[in-house]
Amino acid sequence: MAIFEIKHPLIAHKMGLMREKEINVKDFRDLVAEVTMLLTYQATLQLPTTKKTIECWSGNVEVETMAQKQPTLVPILRAGLGMLTGAMQVLPCAKVSVVGLKRNEKTLDAETYYENILSDIDQRTAIIIDPMLATGGTLVATIDMLKKSGAKKIIGLFLVAAPEGIKLVEEHHPEVDLYIAAIDEKLNEQGYILPGLGDAGDKIFGTLN
Ligand code: URA
Repeated sequence: MAIFEIKHPLIAHKMGLMREKEINVKDFRDLVAEVTMLLTYQATLQLPTTKKTIECWSGNVEVETMAQKQPTLVPILRAGLGMLTGAMQVLPCAKVSVVGLKRNEKTLDAETYYENILSDIDQRTAIIIDPMLATGGTLVATIDMLKKSGAKKIIGLFLVAAPEGIKLVEEHHPEVDLYIAAIDEKLNEQGYILPGLGDAGDKIFGTLN
């Protein structure tokens, strides 16, 4: 498994702005989109290309083209939807597979409540998007689900990750690459990342009290 914490001055600057306590909903959304664009650019550097010959104004020319079908973006409901705009700026033709998971309060396991995954996912790279990689339980369950649906190449994009979550994913799915804007210190007792962003879904959807 490769963990890429993307060391980019623009990402570092934008993450700093996102951590401001009093940030408003528009600025937060805009920054999520901007950082996601940069992460998507970085993650798609590994997509395979192939050569083909086209007719150019100056005659035939060999060009590079994507070797596979367009990737499918996989936002994890609800907060993952906030990263869709930015990811689609870089991948405007990407298909979208949506998954929703919630924690069973008795067993503490992640349970699926929504699943709409492309039937030809075996021919595409699946790019999971979720702002926060906290305990890792939801991500492990999402990867399980994608693999069951046939996905062969899976990568994940996150704004902030906790070391505990990365470790869990490494144990269960060592071949999945993670692209992360910031790896933070730890989780608190409530499962929030420190220093983190707080509840990313609430900040994206404006549902903070
Ligand atoms: N989900 C969030 O939105 N924030 C965290 O810190 C952890 C999980």
